[in-house]
Amino acid sequence: MYEANNSCRSKKCDTANKSIGCTVTQCKYHCDSENYCSLDKIQVVTHESDPKMSQCTDCSTFEPKN
Ligand code: SF4
Repeated sequence: MYEANNSCRSKKCDTANKSIGCTVTQCKYHCDSENYCSLDKIQVVTHESDPKMSQCTDCSTFEPKN
């Protein structure tokens, strides 16, 4: 029997993906009540030619709210 145990369910997001943690609350795919992405898959990219640290990478799936 299905049991709704996702605290996002009462909010707009009902699919918190516990495999994709994210704190970018400005993104329309962010699960607002928890720090997770709501998508099944994201694309991570680099904006550097030779990335050396995490700051060199980005989520290219990001879209701003509104
Ligand atoms: S799409 Fe990327 S930036 Fe947006 S919530 Fe998901 S992981 Fe975060």
